[in-house]
Amino acid sequence: MGKKLKKIGVMTSGGDSPGMNAAIRSVVRACAYYRTECVGIYRGYQGMIEGDFVPMSARSVNNIIHKGGTILQSARSKDFRTKEGRKKAYDNLTEQGIEGLVVIGGDGSFTGGVVFNKEYNFPVIGIPGTIDNDIFGTSHTLGYDTALNTAMEAIDKIRDTASSHNRLFFVEVMGRDAGFIALNAGVGAGAEEILIPEEDLGLNRMLESLKKSRRSGKSSSIVVIAEGDKSGKNVYELADYVEQNMPEYEVRVSVLGHMQRGGSPTCFDRVLASRLGVKAVELLIDGKSNLMVGLENDKISTTNLEKAIKGQCEIDMELLRVSDIMTT
Ligand code: ATP
Repeated sequence: MGKKLKKIGVMTSGGDSPGMNAAIRSVVRACAYYRTECVGIYRGYQGMIEGDFVPMSARSVNNIIHKGGTILQSARSKDFRTKEGRKKAYDNLTEQGIEGLVVIGGDGSFTGGVVFNKEYNFPVIGIPGTIDNDIFGTSHTLGYDTALNTAMEAIDKIRDTASSHNRLFFVEVMGRDAGFIALNAGVGAGAEEILIPEEDLGLNRMLESLKKSRRSGKSSSIVVIAEGDKSGKNVYELADYVEQNMPEYEVRVSVLGHMQRGGSPTCFDRVLASRLGVKAVELLIDGKSNLMVGLENDKISTTNLEKAIKGQCEIDMELLRVSDIMTT
């Protein structure tokens, strides 16, 4: 270990995701292990600007590993986008003697961290916390696995109604720019069709596929759609379109919404959070900065923060092919 940092700050920023509490716990406990003080910063960058800090001991994070949301709360801060706001934040951090920062959040939060690091040369390490899984340099972001399972279980329940009433259900899941949840929850729940932002499969193809499965004897079906799919129609318009072209089906829409963000993190997310938190603290203590910790090939890795923000994370298109074969 390099120069011992006296105090590390930890915060959660942007949209909350399951596993953030487990990551806070890990950062706090790793600090305690290395005898470095740890300070929690409430409401992300906004709390940094307002000096909303709390000292955190190993015991202050008892009984949170299983909880969704974030005990430090999260926020989107307009003030941090201004030089004045960041100056206030810097003054508050230095006044508290905080010498390094762990930011748990998505690419926006990392951008804030990069800007702050450039301006004040302040050490920042990022932990990817977002359900969308849309960050380069990690196969999994914190909360993604939990959101995936939440979506899949919800689709399983919808299937019960779909099959009891010979209905066709359109289920919208989260993912404005990335189809990770739609594709994986769709395959996991045996969806008939999956529409994602990464690929425009065309409405005719969907219609043909639904007609084919109807002819093959299926009396109910589920189509999973990511919020940002490329068909040019929203989920209600899509449902209308199919109902007009397939009057034999009763079509229903279910938008899963924010329930996908909440809930107790899966074991995978808890373990990932524990590993990432320890690594983040060790990097800061080692004098490293401007890095994101992630998971690559099942090993904890580091990626330059700017690269993590700008890099393109690819969805596994092979899964679409698998999905097609599964609906035979
Ligand atoms: P999610 O993936 O859930 O949207 P996120 O971390 O991407 O999470 P954002 O709202 O994009 O969420 O960013 C969180 C915060 O980071 C912003 O509210 C802002 O305070 C800060 N931030 C983002 N971009 C910048 C920037 N260019 N300069 C300074 N701060 C920024």
